[in-house]
Amino acid sequence: MAIEKTLVLLKPCTLQRALAGEIISIFEKKGLQICGMKMMQLDDAILSEHYAHLSAKPFFQRVKDSMMTAPVVALCLAGVDAVAAVRALAGPTNGRLATPGTIRGNYCMSFQENIVHASDSPETAAVELARFFRPEEIFSYRPATFDYLYANDEY
Ligand code: ADP
Repeated sequence: MAIEKTLVLLKPCTLQRALAGEIISIFEKKGLQICGMKMMQLDDAILSEHYAHLSAKPFFQRVKDSMMTAPVVALCLAGVDAVAAVRALAGPTNGRLATPGTIRGNYCMSFQENIVHASDSPETAAVELARFFRPEEIFSYRPATFDYLYANDEY
């Protein structure tokens, strides 16, 4: 197990529905550490790169358009196994079917307007963090609560 950093985007639907603070609070309460946070207006170029794996899908342009309707908040979150922990918290893509208790399960009814993006592997996280943050925008600091978040053989 290792301390990882992962990327989360609070999607335009989350800002428009005034849920940004509540969703950030869920990550904080879980024990994930905020190492980077900024508001951005995305454009087609960065979204074409970010969603390249969907380029053959009929909803590719619609997903990109949705991500440009308002700003997003980009977060870099850190913790032991942070990539998997954040994906578990986010829940599956389709909010209608997402397990209650997950972010998508609790806060949305849509496949597309599903509150957050979360990196799906440590390799993807590294690429995605570099896409959305400059190195100096990511901060490393020891959380004061660290010894109460983890046993000393967990990292
Ligand atoms: P995830 O965000 O759960 O990792 P994907 O990488 O497969 O899922 O898709 C990226 C985003 O594209 C999803 O979060 C969602 O907003 C949108 N999307 C994916 N599949 C669909 C679909 N079948 N219909 C509408 N939107 C979709």
